[in-house]
Amino acid sequence: MSDSTANTDILIPSELLPRDGRFGSGPSKVRKEAVDALVARSADYLGTSHRQNTVKSVVGEVRSGLRQLFSIPEGYEVVLGNGGSTYFWDTAVFSLIANKSQHLSFGEFSAKFASSAKMAPFIQDPEVIKAEPGSRPEAVANDEIDLYAFTHNETSTGVFMDIIRPAGAKGLVAVDATSAAAGLTVEASQFDCYYFAPQKAFASDGGIWFALMSPAAIERVKEIKASGRYIPPALDLSIALDNSVLNQTYNTPALATIFLMNEQIKWMNENGGLPFSTGRSAQSSGIVYNWAIASDFATPFVKDPAMRSNVVATIDFDDNIDAASIAKVLRKNGIVDVEPYRKLGRNQLRIATFPAVDPSDVEALVASIDYVVSKF
Ligand SMILES: *Cc1c(COP(=O)(O)O)cnc(C)c1O
Repeated sequence: MSDSTANTDILIPSELLPRDGRFGSGPSKVRKEAVDALVARSADYLGTSHRQNTVKSVVGEVRSGLRQLFSIPEGYEVVLGNGGSTYFWDTAVFSLIANKSQHLSFGEFSAKFASSAKMAPFIQDPEVIKAEPGSRPEAVANDEIDLYAFTHNETSTGVFMDIIRPAGAKGLVAVDATSAAAGLTVEASQFDCYYFAPQKAFASDGGIWFALMSPAAIERVKEIKASGRYIPPALDLSIALDNSVLNQTYNTPALATIFLMNEQIKWMNENGGLPFSTGRSAQSSGIVYNWAIASDFATPFVKDPAMRSNVVATIDFDDNIDAASIAKVLRKNGIVDVEPYRKLGRNQLRIATFPAVDPSDVEALVASIDYVVSKF
């Protein structure tokens, strides 16, 4: 049963299939109800000015909805700008790191922010603390550090970390929560900047970033601006901040993306907020991990259960079962995007269990995988 002989023309019985076959880690499943709501506003919202109240009121709802969802304290601001999380890294390099950052590097995404900081000629080289993929490092407080860069969920490996200020640290805590926000628990007092893009747990589309910023982070932005550092306007957090408080962005945003995100935030808040959304992800990922542990051919890639993510579950397969062939069969049957992160290079499936994903569909997914393997 090597990969060369695996039968990939397998038809999974329809009663086994999930109702929705999208399990990708981003872009990820967008709920049909949200798309229907957008269609209903196709003539009076889409195609209208982002400087007028029709759009600004939706941006305002997103900002207040995030405030509610994350129980954000007074004085924090919800800031937004175009470009997605990757652009936010460069924005942070220009507008949030005063002199030296420390990065916990444990996969592709966390490594990328560290390398952006290293390239910047106007700050010192960052301190990078690494761990092997499938594990995670610990932050070490150091008085030289003015920004600690954490990644709530390393989407490339399925390892998460708890967001806690390092004991004795004076620097800001900035958290890449792109795939974690709304799927993993967090306490606003533990961060200064919690940023993400909405194509993952917020079941919308990419190309925009949101950042929940503390008064200390806002103060830092102002200090760096006042220092006279050259900051490209599109990467300037002080400009983003000035626009955000007016429910606008510096340049034109994607209106559909904002609308879909608002629908998802409303859905979460109406159903119980963060305990509801994180609970869905915990339930769904639990189904995957428990199935893999009980299986005689699959096993969780992340060895330490305390590091296993509730939003992205990575599952290794025994050598005699080719995960790529499973993914191929699933794709032919309408179950998409469970291939592993390309650079991790493992015999693995990666299954996103974001809040929008229905736990009953995750049950159907693992049953479908069992069926496929039984036919190899
Ligand atoms: C997807 C992802 C990114 C990149 O997001 P873009 O919006 O594509 O720039 C960054 N960090 C993490 C943890 C991610 O999962």
